[in-house]
Amino acid sequence: MGWSTVSIEQNLAEIRRRMSCATESCQGHSRAPVLVAVSKTVDSDRIAEACRWGQIDFAESRVQEWLTKKDQALPTQPRWHFIGRLQTNKLKYLDESIVLIHSLDRVSLLEALNNEGERRNHLWRALLQVNVTGDSAKAGVSPQEAPWFLDKAQKYPRVAVDGLMTIGKADASDDETRVVFSTLRELRDSMISLGVAAKEQFTELSMGMSDDYEIALSEGATIIRVGSGIFGQR
Ligand SMILES: *Cc1c(COP(=O)(O)O)cnc(C)c1O
Repeated sequence: MGWSTVSIEQNLAEIRRRMSCATESCQGHSRAPVLVAVSKTVDSDRIAEACRWGQIDFAESRVQEWLTKKDQALPTQPRWHFIGRLQTNKLKYLDESIVLIHSLDRVSLLEALNNEGERRNHLWRALLQVNVTGDSAKAGVSPQEAPWFLDKAQKYPRVAVDGLMTIGKADASDDETRVVFSTLRELRDSMISLGVAAKEQFTELSMGMSDDYEIALSEGATIIRVGSGIFGQR
């Protein structure tokens, strides 16, 4: 028994229902957004449970923790995302099962990823993390630095930057949150207008967590990252 079994199923169903409502009412979506289940601190049994309910994309924020989980037997092979601050000396532990790094936040990481990609002939897919709220505790480049960063990223062929990622503001009103997410969307579009990113490739907006993913979806999120809303409080 256990409440977690029931609640993971129900939580996933509820989030998926809200995702389809949000995208039906929003013309801007050309394809269905992706739900990434944030499994940090969640044990493999509960990850397996989510797999059994059809969840495919999972995210971890610490390399060490991900390493303990990635080789566990699961009902289906997850598509792993990385969402935490990434130290360059840990890159050697990452492998091709990481489909997207959401936390590209500095040139030294870009450089190190590129070197690691050269070494093993691998193309990393990544999102540029933007600190829209200017919160000093958060990683990410400022919106003003984004064009410069993306221009630089073109010189690193082993890293494909597919879009932008941000974290909303804690304890913000819905209106404040909406502004954060619309700012990220406008930033993506202006990077394309400026010519520092290609329209066909630079499509992703990773934004929205348990408390604000519906607002994010209505502002055009293509990826939402939900942890406690699926697995319960950490
Ligand atoms: C923990 C985390 C999430 C998920 O947060 P919840 O509030 O549990 O949904 C999403 N994104 C990042 C970057 C995180 O660190």
